Amino acid sequence: MTTALTYPPRKLGPEQEALRAEVRDFLEKDYAAGGFQRGQEAMARYDIEFSKRLGAAGYLGVTWPKKYGGRELTFLDRFVIVEEVLAAGAPVGAHWVADRQSGPLLLKYGTEEQRERFLPPIVRGESYFCIGMSEPDSGSDLASARCSATRVDGGWRLNGTKLWTSLAHICHYMIALVRTSPVNPENRHEGFSQMIVDLHAPGVEVRPVYNLAGEHHFNQEVFTDYFVPDENVVGEIGQGWAQVMSELAYERSGPERILSTFQTLVELVRAVGDNPSEVEARAIGRLTAHLTTLRGMSVSVAGMLADGKMPVTEAALVKDLGTNYCKDVPETARLIRPPETGAGGNSGYEAMLAKATLLAPSLTIQGGTREILRGMIARGLGLR
Ligand SMILES: Cc1cc2nc3c(=O)[nH]c(=O)nc-3n(C[C@H](O)[C@H](O)[C@H](O)COP(=O)(O)OP(=O)(O)OC[C@H]3O[C@@H](n4cnc5c(N)ncnc54)[C@H](O)[C@@H]3O)c2cc1C
Repeated sequence: MTTALTYPPRKLGPEQEALRAEVRDFLEKDYAAGGFQRGQEAMARYDIEFSKRLGAAGYLGVTWPKKYGGRELTFLDRFVIVEEVLAAGAPVGAHWVADRQSGPLLLKYGTEEQRERFLPPIVRGESYFCIGMSEPDSGSDLASARCSATRVDGGWRLNGTKLWTSLAHICHYMIALVRTSPVNPENRHEGFSQMIVDLHAPGVEVRPVYNLAGEHHFNQEVFTDYFVPDENVVGEIGQGWAQVMSELAYERSGPERILSTFQTLVELVRAVGDNPSEVEARAIGRLTAHLTTLRGMSVSVAGMLADGKMPVTEAALVKDLGTNYCKDVPETARLIRPPETGAGGNSGYEAMLAKATLLAPSLTIQGGTREILRGMIARGLGLR
């Protein structure tokens, strides 16, 4: 039997629009004062001082309880803040994972001691986390992960390797998915646990991996008898798989999945000017219409999260459509307005287009590949 996916329309209210005006004002002033550089794929770019200013302004951990420094705002409020920060092309990589998913994970599964220790510095924009899921031979098939921890007095000894870890070299902690009991061939999802790894402690080596653009974004981490104290185990031993799956719902649903190449669209509109040709007007109209629809779906997912739901399939569909859209932006731009030979620099249309073209292949890989997401969506629809 097939199941329909629905995206109930959500309207952002006057409180959210007031918040939007406030955030936009903060960003405009910060930019005007030379506070940050505009760019694309904001999650991959970082500026630690900017993250601290964002924290000081009260824009991180906003949905979290006040006792941990949060503001107890809704997911719709968070949506507006994130949307404005991304649309401004601000560098959010340092605090991104901590704010989006490590904090919510600790709120859901962490101990009170962990929340008190880890959440306030995240809210201040001073503490950064990365995601330790993928390994050299485990990406889509995450259940084949081999990084393992064995029980010792007072904690766990961790050995193995994680790979493709975004910005681990500037993070303080990783939340790693590790095997804490041998593989059960009947159920490979059993026997995983999540642990907080201090990336600066002995027994962990963070090695750079350079991407297609020649940038140091990824890392490989090698754990050699690294000691994880019991107080750094997140949730229950053996429940890591279910915990990771709930984390992915936060990872896949946000406006970042539709805005990764937004600055290219902005610069395309500027480059075309007030008198576009028919082809240009049609292409820009189509890109804008798609963005508007995707944004409606993304707001709807934020609304479902605000209602306490776990819209895993709905979020997967937004990620699949959104990241394909983000790839479509530079492709369309290149066709209707080819870059001039030799044009470069750090700003303007040519620079944004060049950057977007280089980053585009990664968009449909990170956070779950296109094929994996489509498999999940098909399952969610009852088609497989
Ligand atoms: C920019 C970027 C940032 C990343 N950051 C992180 C991070 O911070 N932390 C982290 O843990 N990981 C991170 N990753 C890793 C990412 O999660 C993996 O690359 C992704 O899950 C795919 O795994 P893989 O690279 O091993 O490819 P594979 O799993 O080997 O897949 C290769 C190809 O085979 C296809 N395929 C695989 N299995 C199936 C199947 N069952 N059915 C159909 N097709 C299939 C895939 O869709 C893909 O096209 C990042 C990746 C990128 C690109």
